[in-house]
Amino acid sequence: MTDFTATRAMFDLPDGVIYLDGNSLGPLPRGVADRVARTIADEWGKMLITGWNDAGWMDLPARVGDRVGRLIGAAPGTVTMGDTLSIKVYQALASALELRPERRVILSDTGNFPSDLYIADGLCRTLGRGHTLRTAPPEDVAKALDDSVAVLMLTEVDYRTGRKHDMARLIAQAHDMGALVVWDLAHSAGAIPVDVTTAKADFAVGCSYKYLNSGPGGPAFIYVAPHLAEDARPALSGWLGHESPFAFEPDYRPAEGVARMRVGTPAILQLAALDAALDVWDKVTLEDVRQRSLELQQKFLESVEAGCPELTLASPRDPAMRGSQISFRHPNGYAIIQALIARGVIGDFRAPDILRFGITPLYLSDQDIERAAILLTEVMTQRSWDKPEYHRRAKVT
Ligand SMILES: *Cc1c(COP(=O)(O)O)cnc(C)c1O
Repeated sequence: MTDFTATRAMFDLPDGVIYLDGNSLGPLPRGVADRVARTIADEWGKMLITGWNDAGWMDLPARVGDRVGRLIGAAPGTVTMGDTLSIKVYQALASALELRPERRVILSDTGNFPSDLYIADGLCRTLGRGHTLRTAPPEDVAKALDDSVAVLMLTEVDYRTGRKHDMARLIAQAHDMGALVVWDLAHSAGAIPVDVTTAKADFAVGCSYKYLNSGPGGPAFIYVAPHLAEDARPALSGWLGHESPFAFEPDYRPAEGVARMRVGTPAILQLAALDAALDVWDKVTLEDVRQRSLELQQKFLESVEAGCPELTLASPRDPAMRGSQISFRHPNGYAIIQALIARGVIGDFRAPDILRFGITPLYLSDQDIERAAILLTEVMTQRSWDKPEYHRRAKVT
């Protein structure tokens, strides 16, 4: 059984803060600052360009990819790191479309994160061959699958509500229809058990700065199922996805396996941060994280519903249908979140009316959850959110 007081000690959280936003930007794990400082001073500073070989920088995307792969059920050598999630969505989608050349439809759901939908729409336009993005309400995705669908592209856990798709079932249904699947695991990796191998995902992508705590702008990951990896043509055919980058050949030849999804020079400092941040996962199982998350979610849900009748639950009531967050709706959600942040409880707001609370057992205790619910109840019953400064929208919400 995982000792969550030990994992709590591995994070550097400011005093007086209860952090319910690790689903958006994970907090700083203790080992990260030292590791990045050493990478800067001892590797970059002393080794200079020889660090690419002598400090193993060139292999870092694959080595860290294997560590992330363990958290999503991917075999070694099937995940690589780099770029941002939006770019990895583009690559996965472009490769998948090319593997279904006779079909023209990307199917997604209306709850998907806008960037994924924008990227899909932009890709359709760039291809200029009549591809279209079709969206269905999340609960109707299976019904919307037909034999025109080339790729089913879904985010497993909805960023607003925390609603979780049944990944294995949808994959089976998509495959029955002859479609490929691209899964976005942005709100799954490090939050819930995922097994891309057993579920038979074709492509999976995700970011590392949410539940994996790599820091702002940390690298994304991409998984390609081994049986597709040698046929998937990378749409962004950069030199580091080449079979032999330092041969500097005039023509592109894709590297073996998922390494072909690398594009350009990897961000070594951010990869070093992620590598150190992943140490916490040597001490926990995702099954324990899931069980503990559901306990804390239940406690938060009950206390908030008892104290704040004005807030409407936006997340599914059935815990099996949720990821690792609890969301509520209120027309003044933005101001309520600002008032709560002023009291040391950091959650976030998602337009138009969602108050979102990430429940991350690695560093949240029962007391944190109780205190957060008490402070939210105070903000609501005293209407402390109704001050001009809490209504003023910042650039990032
Ligand atoms: C967070 C998130 C993104 C963000 O993409 P970036 O390129 O890293 O900014 C994209 N898609 C989903 C589903 C997300 O949750």
